[in-house]
Amino acid sequence: MSEQDTTLFGKIIRREIPADIVFENDELIAFRDIAPSAPVHVLFVPKTPIASLDAATPDHAALLGRLMIAAAEYARSEGFAEDGYRVVMNCGRDAGQTVFQVHLHLLAGAPLGGFGARHAH
Ligand code: AMP
Repeated sequence: MSEQDTTLFGKIIRREIPADIVFENDELIAFRDIAPSAPVHVLFVPKTPIASLDAATPDHAALLGRLMIAAAEYARSEGFAEDGYRVVMNCGRDAGQTVFQVHLHLLAGAPLGGFGARHAH
């Protein structure tokens, strides 16, 4: 089993545990955070196992770029891009990373002064 298979998000990708999935393609999945820090809080996750940004290599550059673009396209398609949003990627202990599969938090739906700070743990 690959590393991702042991993470919570690997289980969501394999439909072993439920999630409110809002987007999926061959290489990415996005679902609502179970403990939202903003009115809109969606996690964008590559299906390739990468424990954190610290484990990413130049080989992952295009995939991580597409992860960002998928979040931006979702924001546009849901109609909140114009009002604005925040993307956050926690890396490691001091950032409060709890799931060791790279993921991008997309936060939106209200002025985010406090939300992003809160989510940064
Ligand atoms: P991080 O702290 O950056 O590693 O983010 C992990 C996120 O996963 C947290 O915001 C959690 O609320 C979220 N989370 C944990 N379990 C689930 C789940 N079963 N479904 C959706 N989101 C989850």
